[in-house]
Amino acid sequence: MTEKETLDSVPTGLFIGGEWRDSSDGSTIDVEDPATGKTLVSVASASPADGAAALDAAVAAQADWAATAPRERAELLRSAFELITERADHFAMLMTLEMGKPLAQSKGEVTYGAEFFRWFSEEVVRIAGRWATSPDGNTRLMTMKQPVGPVLMITPWNFPLAMGTRKIGPAIAAGCTMVVKPASQTPLTMLALADLLKEVGVPDGVVNVVSTSQTGDVMEPLIGDPRLRKLTFTGSTPVGKTLVRQSADQLLRVSMELGGNAPFLVFPDADLDQAVQGAMLAKMRNMGEACTAANRFLVHESVADEFATKFAEKMAAEVVGRGTEDGVTVGPLIDAKQRDKVSELVDDATSRGASVVTGGSTTGDAGYFFQPTVLTDVSPDADLFREEIFGPVAPITTFSDDAKAVQMANDTEYGLVAYAFTTDLGRMIRVSEGLEFGMVGINQGIVSNPAAPFGGVKQSGFGREGGPEGIEEYLCVKYVGIAP
Ligand code: NAP
Repeated sequence: MTEKETLDSVPTGLFIGGEWRDSSDGSTIDVEDPATGKTLVSVASASPADGAAALDAAVAAQADWAATAPRERAELLRSAFELITERADHFAMLMTLEMGKPLAQSKGEVTYGAEFFRWFSEEVVRIAGRWATSPDGNTRLMTMKQPVGPVLMITPWNFPLAMGTRKIGPAIAAGCTMVVKPASQTPLTMLALADLLKEVGVPDGVVNVVSTSQTGDVMEPLIGDPRLRKLTFTGSTPVGKTLVRQSADQLLRVSMELGGNAPFLVFPDADLDQAVQGAMLAKMRNMGEACTAANRFLVHESVADEFATKFAEKMAAEVVGRGTEDGVTVGPLIDAKQRDKVSELVDDATSRGASVVTGGSTTGDAGYFFQPTVLTDVSPDADLFREEIFGPVAPITTFSDDAKAVQMANDTEYGLVAYAFTTDLGRMIRVSEGLEFGMVGINQGIVSNPAAPFGGVKQSGFGREGGPEGIEEYLCVKYVGIAP
């Protein structure tokens, strides 16, 4: 399919109650190609009335959906997994067009995103309770797990497919209905996914998708609606905090996957080639626009020069360009605001004494490109050690002993993921235990895995997505006491 055919094949309406419809006030959102700054296509933008209609549809479908056989929900997820996989090129092209990442990375996200459906298709049939005799022997304790009820899902632009399937998969598995609101910069992938879920036979009203540019005005009434039972959000920490406050009135079940500030530790006994390979993955996946992106490279002083030289060589060899072009490995950032923020963070670091080993500035005539950049001698008080960079910039600083390394790594309000490279088993254990993060990657620059519990601590949020833990977020435990 050509780019135009790919775009023409995507529905551009609101998906409510199994039907595509226009926005009730006729408004639309222009979806931009970040590589060119040009509009790709316009999609319907939901009004508050449309948001309410989507929740009505989810509420109406909930009881029948909860009563479906686990095997039926499993088969639907499995069919969706297979169809996404069959259409991997199509989904990859859509993501590259609306979000910018190179096609090979978009294909990687299709594999990762689809896998949540396969994983949870296998989990559905294992939802179980337990049975026990009370300690005094007088009663029997039975537990059962039931779907939590209608869920509102709000997702970010950086992984347009996977951040959705990581929520939709377990919700379908658990028997919940849902309203999904994708990021307004990248709605196309989610609209294509909604169409695919309809095609495989997910019943009307189970999955509803509303894009909107009136984000707060459409979301807040839904969060305050007593029929909604759960809110799951992936995005920035400030927005997450606002949503937690809004959800307090209804005491909603809440899951928050928020920002990160990942440290990447290289110890003196590390295999440096492996560390550089891990650094490329941890830094350059998604052009650095990932909550899991390595944000601070903390390298032992005895290997820092060698690590920086090897890492900078690889970074300098990256090819920046439009993600649809052959050979391109680094696409544009999402918008001008993000590109300018990355630029300011680099300027701040250099004004405090950092040296630019490679890169350091914006590039390209159109679009929002930034060069792969390595900075050394970065002052610990530079802004980019405190804030999420969300760009292809790797700041390196050094440490002299393990205790200091762990202390530096933990010196952040965030706690999503940390990476450590060492070949010493004792150090692996001590460092893993000492790091205050929800996830730790040892000798690997990527931790995302549908079979593992993804999530953070501190201001990176709470709740887990993926793994056996992922489905629990969508289930309530009910206990029944029975006198024999
Ligand atoms: P964002 O600005 O927080 O937006 C995320 C989503 O929230 C979008 O759908 C956005 O809608 C919506 N939103 C914004 N304001 C809202 C409001 N007042 N009420 C309801 N919804 C609202 O974050 P982003 O810039 O898209 O994404 C980047 C952030 O996500 C980074 O901090 C990154 O670390 C984090 N992230 C975390 C994880 C994780 O699993 N921990 C994974 C990926 C990304 P609009 O698009 O319409 O504004």
